[in-house]
Amino acid sequence: MSYRKRRVSTYNIGRIYERSIRARTGGQHLGKPGNPDIIKKKLWGLLGENHIEAKAGFVSLPQLKGEVHKGRTHVYSKTGFSEPAVAYAERYSNVKLFRRGRRIRYCFRCHRTYYDDEGCDCGWW
Ligand SMILES: [Zn+2]
Repeated sequence: MSYRKRRVSTYNIGRIYERSIRARTGGQHLGKPGNPDIIKKKLWGLLGENHIEAKAGFVSLPQLKGEVHKGRTHVYSKTGFSEPAVAYAERYSNVKLFRRGRRIRYCFRCHRTYYDDEGCDCGWW
């Protein structure tokens, strides 16, 4: 008798991703609707809290605006962010974007995204 591997629903992919980010950041899980996925206190809460949203899917500009509006400070995406979303985060908000553990930023000179740890090719930052 053989068991066929069950497909993981998109809901579960989101759950699994959220859990992995939580493990990585060491934050506290608050999975209620409307709440951030993960809350991490900065210096035992003395410096406020990071409100982390973990998205398994691609994050577009309208989605990001929604997260900024909800007061998120960090947004993690497994798939990535649209360029306008990264540009918006960089210019109009303090929210930090991460993909696969690396900060994503936007270069206003080249008009493209880059990883913060590599810097942009133009050497602007
Ligand atoms: Zn550049």
